[in-house]
Amino acid sequence: MSFKTYDYTLFCTNCRRTYSNIVLSCPNCGSLTIFKYHNARFEINKRMPGIWRYKSLLPTLDKIVSKGEGLTPINTIDSVLVKNERYNPTGSYSDRASSIIASYILSKKTGKVITKFEEDFTYSLVYYLTGISRVTVIVDDPLSLNYSDISILTRGGNVELVSTSEDLSVGVLNYVNPLTVEGLKTIAFELYERRVRVENIVVPAVRGLLAYSIWKGFRDLEESGLSTSYNIVATTIKGYSNIMPSIRESFKVVEVSRDEVLATLLELGGKGVITKPLSISAFITAKNLGNSIAILTIGFRPPPRKHWSIGARREIIRILEEYGESTAYEVWKNLPVYTLRGVYRALKAMEEKGEVCSEFKTRGNRKVKYYKVC
Ligand SMILES: [Zn+2]
Repeated sequence: MSFKTYDYTLFCTNCRRTYSNIVLSCPNCGSLTIFKYHNARFEINKRMPGIWRYKSLLPTLDKIVSKGEGLTPINTIDSVLVKNERYNPTGSYSDRASSIIASYILSKKTGKVITKFEEDFTYSLVYYLTGISRVTVIVDDPLSLNYSDISILTRGGNVELVSTSEDLSVGVLNYVNPLTVEGLKTIAFELYERRVRVENIVVPAVRGLLAYSIWKGFRDLEESGLSTSYNIVATTIKGYSNIMPSIRESFKVVEVSRDEVLATLLELGGKGVITKPLSISAFITAKNLGNSIAILTIGFRPPPRKHWSIGARREIIRILEEYGESTAYEVWKNLPVYTLRGVYRALKAMEEKGEVCSEFKTRGNRKVKYYKVC
C-alpha cells in the first residue's frame, strides 16, 4: 500500500488570498496563511510511530526530520482526561511544529533560520535544527533570559543571539506560521485515530494558535469526507489572552481567574502533579465543563526512593544506639555508602517523625546539632 500526498495551496486567514507556493505569512497583509489540501484522503501509516503516520494530510517535503514527536499518552488526573504533551522529545507540543519546520528547512537547504525568542518553541526549534541549520534568535529583552534558557540554547552549538530585528524583518520564522499549524493539528488526528469519546477539547491559549490548529485538523478530516463532532474550547487566564483576530471565529474562549489557577496549581502540586499555570487553566475548564479532554503539558514527581530511606533509617538508629549522641557528620562517617546530604535529609525526616531527637550544644565557639534516639 502506498501513502499518497495531495496537492495544496496556501490560503490567508485574513484577506483570503491564495498562493500556489509555501508562504510563511501572507505577502499581501502579513497575516497567518494555512495549507488547504485538494481532494485529500486521510490515511494512517501505522508503522510510523509519530506525527508522520498522517503524512497524507501533511505538507509534501523531500526530507523528513523526526525525533519521536507525537503519539503522546492520555492520562487521567483527578477524573479529568488529559493529553499529556510532556512526552514529546523536548517536553512540549512545539516539537510537532519543529518536526515539520525542520523538514521544510532541510528540504529547502536553507542554511540559516531567524526566529524570535519564545521559550518552549525556540528551545524545540533549536533542538530540531541542530546539525541542519544555524539559528539566529532575536531576544527583545536580553534581561529576560535566565540561566536555564542559556544552557538549553547553547547545547547544540548552532545558535546566535541578537537583540535587534532591525535588518532582519524579512524572512523571520516565528511561532505563528502555516508549518506550525500543520504540526500542531496532528493532535486532532491522534484524538480521531484513538476515537476519544468526549464532547470538548480544551486547549490552553494566549494567541490561540494551538486551538486553531486542532480545529484545523478536524476541518481537514471533514474535508476528506470524515465526520467529527468535537467542540474546541480555548482557555486562558483572565487578562492574558490575546487571541489573533483572524482565527477568533474558530473556537469558543473560556477565561479562568488567577486565584482559581493558583489554588489548583497548589492542589495538584500537593498530589505530585506539576504543570504550568496556562495548562492549569485548561485543566480547570475541562473539569468544569465535564465530558472533556484537556491538552496540556503535565509532569509527575518521581516516587520516593523507599528502599534507600528505610535501609538508611534503620542504620542511623543502630549507629545512634551504638555511639550515643552524634552530629550528622559523625553519623555519616559511620555510614560512608550514603552521601552526607542524604544523611542530613534522612535525619531531618526522622526528626519530623519523632524517630530521633536533637539538641544544640556548643563545641568550642560553634553551635552544633546532636542527634540521639528519643
Ligand atoms: Zn492576507
